[in-house]
Amino acid sequence: MSNLEQTLSIIKPDAVERDLSENIKKIFIKNNLEIKDSKKLQITKDEAAEFYKVHQSKPFFNDLCAYLSSGPIEVMILEGKNAISLNRKLMGATDPKNAEENTIRKLYGISIDKNSVHGSDSVDNAKIEIKFFFKN
Ligand code: UDP
Ligand code: MG
Repeated sequence: MSNLEQTLSIIKPDAVERDLSENIKKIFIKNNLEIKDSKKLQITKDEAAEFYKVHQSKPFFNDLCAYLSSGPIEVMILEGKNAISLNRKLMGATDPKNAEENTIRKLYGISIDKNSVHGSDSVDNAKIEIKFFFKN
């Protein structure tokens, strides 16, 4: 049995605003990640704070929540072999300056805060994050 996984991907406001969603989705599909569900929505700052609560003690927390709730986002369930680590690899380093060539953040990220995408970082967090956006 291969490790078929699901992970949560978010296309953040900076990328939705620049119409990059289709380009980013093509990268997932080309790399054998299937988009099982997706929706475009805008969340409140309180919802962003709930989503990012692991970072609540960080100095960037307030700006991060303000940013994620600042405009429409697209959230997706990605499924595939090793989907969690594969998605993280396709995303690239948190700071686009440090991201490898051809990663999403290298191609499209503007700065460490406007870095175009989010991806779950573990099996447990993927479950929590998928449930957060796709209840039932
Ligand atoms: N972030 C930030 N400043 C920092 C570190 C992180 O604005 O110094 C933002 C950044 O947008 C990042 C998010 O907080 O994507 C969550 O941080 P994390 O360390 O979980 O990075 P990620 O998992 O997104 O690569
Ligand atoms: Mg993270």
